[in-house]
Amino acid sequence: MFTINNNYLKLQGSYLFSNIAKKVADYQHQNPNADMIRLGIGDVTQPLAPAIIKALHSAVDDMANAETFHGYAPDKGYDFLRNAIADNDYRNRGCDIEADEIFVSDGAKCDSGNIQEIFGPDNKIAVCDPVYPVYVDTNVMAGRTGNYNPDAQNYDGMIYMPCVEDNHFVPELPKETPNIIYLCFPNNPTGAGITRAELQEWVDYANRVGAVIIYDAAYEAYITEKDVPHSVYECKGARHCAIELHSFSKNAGFTGVRLGYTVVPKDLKCGSVSLHDLWSRRHGTKYNGAPYIVQRAGEAVYSPEGKEQLRAQVDYYMKNAKVICEGLKNAGYSVSGGINAPYVWLKTPGRLSSWEFFDELLSKANVVGTPGSGFGAHGEGYFRLSAFGTYENTVKAIERITKM
Ligand code: PLP
Repeated sequence: MFTINNNYLKLQGSYLFSNIAKKVADYQHQNPNADMIRLGIGDVTQPLAPAIIKALHSAVDDMANAETFHGYAPDKGYDFLRNAIADNDYRNRGCDIEADEIFVSDGAKCDSGNIQEIFGPDNKIAVCDPVYPVYVDTNVMAGRTGNYNPDAQNYDGMIYMPCVEDNHFVPELPKETPNIIYLCFPNNPTGAGITRAELQEWVDYANRVGAVIIYDAAYEAYITEKDVPHSVYECKGARHCAIELHSFSKNAGFTGVRLGYTVVPKDLKCGSVSLHDLWSRRHGTKYNGAPYIVQRAGEAVYSPEGKEQLRAQVDYYMKNAKVICEGLKNAGYSVSGGINAPYVWLKTPGRLSSWEFFDELLSKANVVGTPGSGFGAHGEGYFRLSAFGTYENTVKAIERITKM
């Protein structure tokens, strides 16, 4: 008889967004005329920018022609895209990252889940609490935790770093020393940014204790403040301790197109073993390259027209974030985020639990948000609203919430 990976049996409950979808479907079934506004899931609503569409069309035409047809892509990505990323996301920002340190993929979710495979089973993992659930679940699957502890709402053996109002949602260095530290800034779900000086402390700490930082920069395009870094490699010494994840989903609306990349610098080593080489081996073994058509679309993100159009798209969502923040603040809510990220993190009123507030918002305002407790124990009593809706719906949703 075969056996299964028993670690999967430790995983808690069903996925947060499936729970939300079920509750919303039940509500709609009972209230078929309800005019629902969805500010829950972090999915974009604006169509792809014209420069991206043009690049997609042109790449499709390439595929129709024997001379310009492309089959399997190089597993690490085409040079045209890796060079554009290295120039625009790194060299232009003064970061010392080369094109051949960039691994193109189909998005940051897969990479953030898969990157743990190159580390040993005994590594101690540290995550923020609240947290993007993928970091936790994939390490549970890999057996790096004990069982789930329902009272504490966490897994034994994992280091949870509270991100709360008192530390303005930026974790403090943990008392217990981790081997792998997941940081995501600008943060999902709290919308918090980290300053360059704060991130430098983390980089210095990781180098001091011999830990690796897995830095998720999926929301860097939303940064508006100068002292908030776009990349961990803006910090000195990060080449020796940090891996960086990027997504084209939020800066360019590729949630349905799928493209991302991961940087593993060649200086990142465990003794004499290069993590770059390990990830290269893993990527080449299990991944067959992002499609040519999609990589051409990715290249267009860095064209002058692409940059201008995508800046406008990011500004559009950040205008929504302002509507949410200001509307809720004026109505007496305690609100954070929304300045360097398209997420607003609010305290539930009247000491309601996150799910109680979810139900209230659903039934009284027909607005769908995300309960903070779904992201971890320290998210309890908080609620996430996404700025990725349309402007009209965002204005309408906030009017409804403030009248509740
Ligand atoms: N990382 C974070 C922090 C996210 O919030 C998300 C999506 O919501 C992702 C990664 C996933 O990105 P992608 O669409 O590239 O898989």
